[in-house]
Parts: sequence; C-alpha cells; structure tokens
Amino acid sequence: MKTYNYKRDDFDRLLVPSYAPAAFIPVRGKGAKVWDQAGKEYIDFTSGIAVSCLGHCHPELVAALKEQGDQLWHLSNAFTNERVLRLAERLVASTFADKVFFCNSGAEANEAALKLALKVAVDNVGADKTEIVSASQSFHGRTLFTVNVGGQSKYSTPFGVAVPGIKQVPFNDIAALREVISAKTCAVILEPVQGEGGVIPADPDYLKAARAITREHDAVLIFDEVQTGVGRTGQLYAYEHYGVEPDILTSAKGLGGGFPIGAMLTTAALAEHFGPGTHGTTYGGNPLACAVADTVVRLVAQEDFLAGVRARETLFLGALCELSARYGVFAAPRGLGLLIGCPLHDEWRGQAKTLVNLAAEEGVLLLLQAGPDVLRFAPPLNIAQADILEGLARLARALGRIAPPTNP
Ligand SMILES: *Cc1c(COP(=O)(O)O)cnc(C)c1O
Repeated sequence: MKTYNYKRDDFDRLLVPSYAPAAFIPVRGKGAKVWDQAGKEYIDFTSGIAVSCLGHCHPELVAALKEQGDQLWHLSNAFTNERVLRLAERLVASTFADKVFFCNSGAEANEAALKLALKVAVDNVGADKTEIVSASQSFHGRTLFTVNVGGQSKYSTPFGVAVPGIKQVPFNDIAALREVISAKTCAVILEPVQGEGGVIPADPDYLKAARAITREHDAVLIFDEVQTGVGRTGQLYAYEHYGVEPDILTSAKGLGGGFPIGAMLTTAALAEHFGPGTHGTTYGGNPLACAVADTVVRLVAQEDFLAGVRARETLFLGALCELSARYGVFAAPRGLGLLIGCPLHDEWRGQAKTLVNLAAEEGVLLLLQAGPDVLRFAPPLNIAQADILEGLARLARALGRIAPPTNP
C-alpha cells in the first residue's frame, strides 16, 4: 500500500481553509471500515456523507472501474458512449423518468433541474413565470444559484449577491405553500427528507399537496434526491415511499458509490426544452463514472437489497432508541431508511462536535450537523450486522464518557 508522511497540519498549510477535517488521516477502507495512518480502525457510519452506499472498495465497483480504466476514459459529449447509454437505460427503466442528463455533483444536478424548469416556463409562458419556491432549512448545493435557492442563509449571505425570484416557505406547511404559489411560479423544489436541515422527513400529505398545487399552477415539481436517492431510504428513490412522482428528480452522492457523478432525471416532454447547446458539462456522462454508477444501480435496485436496507433500519432505530433512553444525550431517532438523525437534548446543544470527536476516539465515524444539533447516521447500505453492533457499542462508550448512564 502506498502511503505518505503528511500530517493534519499540512492541510492548514496547503488547502483553502473551507473545511475543518478530523485530526486523523484515513488511508484505507474496506466495507464499512476505514483505517488511519496509525492503523487504527473505525466503523464508518457516514459513508462519506451518504456517498459510499456499498461501503469502501466494493469488489464489483473496483472491477467495473478497472475494466473501464483499460478501455476508454473520456471523450466529451461530442460523442456518446456505451456506458452512459447503459446507465441511462437502467435509470429510465427503474424510475418515473424518460430521459437523463448527467453531470458531476449534486449542486450541478440541481443547477440543471432549475435551469430546465426556467427554460420550460420561459418557452411556454415568458419571463414573468420565473419564481422558484423552496423550503426553509433546505439544502441544494453550493453553487451561487443553489445556495440562494437553499433555505439556509448562512450559505448565501456571505457572498453578498442575492439571486432574485426565490421564495422560501416553512417545510411541511401546506398552507404556506398554497399561499406562496402563483401563476409566476415556475418550480417548487423539495427534499423528500431534508438531509442537511437535520434529517426531517416530509409528511406524505405535504408531498401529495405539493404535487397537486404545482399542477394547478403549471409549475414544475423538483425532488432533490441527492441525499435520499439510490437506496438510502430503503427504496431506490424516496418518492416511491410517498407515491408522488416529480417532474424532475436530481441524484448524486450515492449514485457513484464514491465516484463523482450527478444526474437529472425528467420526463420526455420537459426534456425537449433542452435542445443541443442549451446546457452542458465537459465531464457529463464520463465512461469511468457511468461504469461505476451502472454497477451501483444494478446492485442497489434489487428488491432483496432494498429489503436489507429496511431490515438494517429497524436494527439501527431500535438500538438508537435504547441509547437515547440510557444516556439522555439525544432524543429518539427520526429519518427514513438508513438516513437517521438524533437531535441532541437542549443541555447538549452545541456539543455535537465534542461527541463526534469522542466517537472517533472510540473508533466510530459519525456526521455532525452543527446548525440543528443533530447527530446523523448514514452508514453503507450493505453494512454487516456485526459492524452495526460494534459501531453502536463504540458510540455507547463515547456517550458514557460525556454522560454517565441514567438508565443502565
Ligand atoms: C449534498 C447535497 C447536495 C449537493 O451535492 P454536491 O455533490 O455536494 O454538490 C444537494 N442537495 C442535497 C439534498 C444534498 O444532500
């Protein structure tokens, strides 16, 4: 194995300080485990923020990448390629969508979705129909457009430029949505489970109402499934739980299982509005990315795999309820599938980072959400039961270090 001798301090020396990474440096991963430079083992309950959905270095993904690596890497969209066609066919066969546009990240997928919605409205109605409605606390990526659409002003106000025509309404509030939508609305964009906002599932009635209200006003309904997609919630895409089909769906994170790729899925009628030259990206549909993503979707879209995600959800929820009762640090878990959030009790607010650091010391990786003070769990979808139990035992030790058990 190739290694170097860098230290965490070298991050501060060399990288733009827009992140605050952990003190240790992981060098190797296998399944749900990673090891750092010192050989210390961690159980990974983060999957690289809901990305490595089949765990680290899954043998079939490694094989797909190596095979494509010897065959063809990149050509641009002046040519199509067999890998992009295969992946698109698989996504179309497994979802509501008829057509797919590929890009490289979640923000880009949302950028494409929002631009498509605007183009449809401008083509069909005109420049008066360009308002976008999103939810408070939502997250749609970090481009200048998507931070403005997202409902967390801490990500947009530092940049001083506000994109006009965007309206935010409280999540899960049907009356507020009905109130804000008008003939000027071109799109409503929602996450079926708000991820960065604190792991908050949409109410089924809310998404059904959003579907009906957008139809009434000829607005496009966009589901941002960048975090909830590709099996994360126990269905291939979360909209299937709700029985509500969007007009446009965005996917990224888990889609490449760790290889960067994003996708915008839509209907044939809407796709027509993106003619040649209207939108594009150099790497979109890159054969390496599509070869890996095709393998991910083939493995995840199987019913027995998805049933396995739901079985792991049950195990996690039961165990987290017990830890919640025993230590009194966080409230009962919420979420959908293996996207689970545990809100910290008031007296522990602001201490999520301390808990995440203690958990890492005990050998388990967790995600922290500093804003809403929620511990987030997004383990690999195929994590072994033994790894779940061991990771939770390590979490219990970390909890015991800040809060003696109230209910041993
Ligand atoms: C992570 C995320 C994004 C942004 O994806 P990037 O790949 O970081 O650009 C957008 N929407 C949601 C819901 C996300 O969780």
